[in-house]
Amino acid sequence: MKLHVDRLTDSPTPHRFVLTPAWWREVSGSPEDASEGLAGDLEAEVRAHKMGADVYLEGELRGALALECGRCLARYRQPIREAFRLVLEPAGDRVPADPEGAAALARDGVYLSDEVEAGWFRGSEIDLGGFFQEGIALLFPVQPLCREDCRGLCPSCGVDRNTESCSCPETSPSSPFAALRGLRHQMTGGEER
Ligand SMILES: [Zn+2]
Ligand SMILES: [Zn+2]
Repeated sequence: MKLHVDRLTDSPTPHRFVLTPAWWREVSGSPEDASEGLAGDLEAEVRAHKMGADVYLEGELRGALALECGRCLARYRQPIREAFRLVLEPAGDRVPADPEGAAALARDGVYLSDEVEAGWFRGSEIDLGGFFQEGIALLFPVQPLCREDCRGLCPSCGVDRNTESCSCPETSPSSPFAALRGLRHQMTGGEER
């Protein structure tokens, strides 16, 4: 996913990269049968130009993520269409303070600062793989839900309550704090403190 910096001009030129599920597994270190990943190829459209000595990139990621619902465990696709931009200034003689950043600058010719949309570049060729990887990682929801009102699995018998009903008594939603209280209750021999 190389961009030739020395070929860029003042007017934006389009570039297109294809990010495959196999590429994602490799860079994210997820196994072949991981429940989350890319649902097919992602397309990254990038328009790049020079702005003085800086490199200015903007574009869009398009495709779909493969996710697993946190409530009913169903696997589902979530379409994504995410705009991004990145401004890189020449690193010059500077070296990033964090070793990982310094390694990335040496290896890929690009270092992303904490702001993500800004960074440094070095040399005539930069590899955008690390930038795409960070951007995609942020798109995965912390609590994936197949749909807003997913009813999940019955905690007693395990049926998918979206498609089946069961006769298990409705239990009150247990919170981790309630479980902790119960545990403490046992440990103190029933004496609540
Ligand atoms: Zn669900
Ligand atoms: Zn049940």
